[in-house]
Amino acid sequence: MEENWEKIGFKAGLECHQQLDTGKLFCRCPSVLREDKPDLIVKRKLRPVASELGEFDKAALEAFEKGQEYVYETFKDTNCEIELDDEPPQKADKDALETVLKVSIMAKANVLDQFFVMRKLVIDGSNTSGFQRTMLVSIGGELEITGKKVGILTIALEEDAARPMERTPEKVIYRLDRLGIPLIELATAPDLKTPEEVKECAAKIGELFRRTCKAKRGLGTIRQDVNISIREGARVEIKGVQDLAMIDEYARREVQRQVSLVEIRDEMKKRKIEAKDFDEAEFVELTQIFSETECKFLKGKPIFGIRLHKMQGLLGKELQPNRRFGTELAGYVKSKAGLRGILHSDELPAYGVSEREIENVKHKCNCVMNDGFAIVQGNKEKAKKAVDAIVERCKQAISGVPEETRNALEDANTEYSRPLPGAARMYPETDLTPVSLEAKELSSIGKNLPLTVKGREKLYAKNGLSGKFVDGMKLSNYACFFERLLAKGVNATTAASVLLDNLTQLRREGIANISNEMVEQALMLEKNKKISKDILLDFLKEWSKKPELEAEDILAGMSIERVDDSALRKTIIAVIEKNKDTVDSKGMHAVDALMGDAMKELKGKADGSAISKILKEEIGKRAKK
Ligand SMILES: [Zn+2]
Repeated sequence: MEENWEKIGFKAGLECHQQLDTGKLFCRCPSVLREDKPDLIVKRKLRPVASELGEFDKAALEAFEKGQEYVYETFKDTNCEIELDDEPPQKADKDALETVLKVSIMAKANVLDQFFVMRKLVIDGSNTSGFQRTMLVSIGGELEITGKKVGILTIALEEDAARPMERTPEKVIYRLDRLGIPLIELATAPDLKTPEEVKECAAKIGELFRRTCKAKRGLGTIRQDVNISIREGARVEIKGVQDLAMIDEYARREVQRQVSLVEIRDEMKKRKIEAKDFDEAEFVELTQIFSETECKFLKGKPIFGIRLHKMQGLLGKELQPNRRFGTELAGYVKSKAGLRGILHSDELPAYGVSEREIENVKHKCNCVMNDGFAIVQGNKEKAKKAVDAIVERCKQAISGVPEETRNALEDANTEYSRPLPGAARMYPETDLTPVSLEAKELSSIGKNLPLTVKGREKLYAKNGLSGKFVDGMKLSNYACFFERLLAKGVNATTAASVLLDNLTQLRREGIANISNEMVEQALMLEKNKKISKDILLDFLKEWSKKPELEAEDILAGMSIERVDDSALRKTIIAVIEKNKDTVDSKGMHAVDALMGDAMKELKGKADGSAISKILKEEIGKRAKK
């Protein structure tokens, strides 16, 4: 589908959330996700007070009305009373604050003099306190993508929500490990005019975050929300796009959805359908009709339905690949009534529902001419809620695209999640005083900004890194540490190979307790010729078993202290002596044969290249004799 984005009036902005690899924002717990068994489980029901709900926030009300129970899983050693909301929050994490300031300066944003912590009301249970804390840090700024500048509206620091583990209609189980992990939130102006620009801009923002060396990595650590509209459509927020490579496809499909909804609107106008036509239809019980049906999921269950005035043909209209207007209605039913979905007249007969049953439903629902109908399966109370949601959505279709928040599905389609949150959700955090920032603090941070990607490429190449290592390092979280190591004069290639290859290998073997400090000391030992680079990996492995010991103690324990040249030569001569028959018969060809023996004898005490050199010299001398 080749679109003329300008003609359609495509407009999009991004809101990116990046988890930071620092401590938690308002307590001093580590930001680690846990996959083992939780130590403590706490059950709660959130009860927001009336004054808070009096602000007409539709999104908040809808979550509250579901009346769910919330279960929280916590860990003794990585959670505290603050995540459970039993103690007031502590001051914002210094590391996280510094990172967001760096991002602000890099993006040419205007940093505020004071940061006020605000509470954003959330009552889906994902936050034990009933609100999310957020701190606006800077406003304005810009990013550059191909051929244009994209404005930045705000950059904020906020706390991540608890991690949903399981959802049932009655309860949601959350894990508190994610709650409180700092997030940078960067919102752009709606300056993006094509899906390709959306993708490029998202990548640019990701790069900006990663340059700080403090961005967490892995699926779910960066979440992009896309705000999209077309001229005849409405603003829709797609939440939680995790796969950056697909973000342009989400944008294209949202356009397709809005264009199709506009077509449905026009057709409804042509058919002279009005809101009151839907109100006139009756909610009817259809259980009897399906008592002997071949349809497995309807048979013997309570079934209800409603006539949809002149909607024949429109319910089956495709909005996104494999998603019809009927699927859209089902999304509302799922969200608002907690039922699995609906059946509608445009998709029947199917699933074992017969022509005769369809005729009976039409009759019972008073369908005439081009009327359609929808069927739901559930108890009367839920079915009524579901039918109300269907009617409400059909009425909205008369005016086109409704403003709303949609969830990103894995296949690049989206599904209704809730109304767009209103602006009236912020309250000042009374437990924390505002953070003041002095000009000199800011200017000292400004002097220590991360290098640009180009700057890194240049610096690393100058230090002799191969292209593979340059690419691996330039946006790695090790980049800043690596640059400090370079300044200390360690060998760049050795350092890169330890950080990018060896540590990964050790983590795969389950060794994850090697700190930067340990790596630095090991590399300094190599630089000062105390150990050979061939055994750096073994050395770190050994140290990881007793990280409390000093590097020298590990070195002594391994008896791998480097030998000087004369000792090296002595050992090699001894190896030659032991194999003199081979040497005498093969001459210089014995070098390869003896190399293995010599390496075994000297492992870690000398570099392979030095061993080979002396071995050649000594065999050469012997051959001349
Ligand atoms: Zn904590």
